[in-house]
Amino acid sequence: MAKKIYIEPDKCTGCRTCELVCSIKNEGMANPVLSRIQNIAFKYEGQRIPTLCLQCESPFCVSVCPVNALQKDGDTDVVKHDPDKCIGCRMCFMACPFGGIGINPGSGQVFKCEQCDGDPECVKACEDKAITFETEDVALMNKKMKSVGCLSELLEKYSTQE
Ligand code: SF4
Repeated sequence: MAKKIYIEPDKCTGCRTCELVCSIKNEGMANPVLSRIQNIAFKYEGQRIPTLCLQCESPFCVSVCPVNALQKDGDTDVVKHDPDKCIGCRMCFMACPFGGIGINPGSGQVFKCEQCDGDPECVKACEDKAITFETEDVALMNKKMKSVGCLSELLEKYSTQE
């Protein structure tokens, strides 16, 4: 089973280290604009949430690309971008509902997260463990454990009120 990058928003402190290490790894410079992961300010004050390509099972970006410059890798499940085929039409940018396609303001070239070929820099750099790289069964179990923890706290809280 292929691993994917998962985000736990409640663990993010908004330090934006993920953006810096991503842009250094992929573009050779610390520039959040060129990062494949972007830490977006949420509606609640002080809350930021990292966003990136979700490597969809049926990616719109792949469907709309007129020159097959985007392809889903059968082994890793990662949507790969081939800059040599890309004509820069930005259809992928418009089709992605999650803002997973970025545009380099200097070159005009589109870019996206390709999970650092299986060793994501943002995951290693996030000290708060808000970004993880795991198979979906592990991610699902972690979510269930978290949910059980919340339920257990609620039960404890209300059982002592009687
Ligand atoms: S910008 Fe490039 S990758 Fe995106 S749809 Fe156009 S040709 Fe395909």
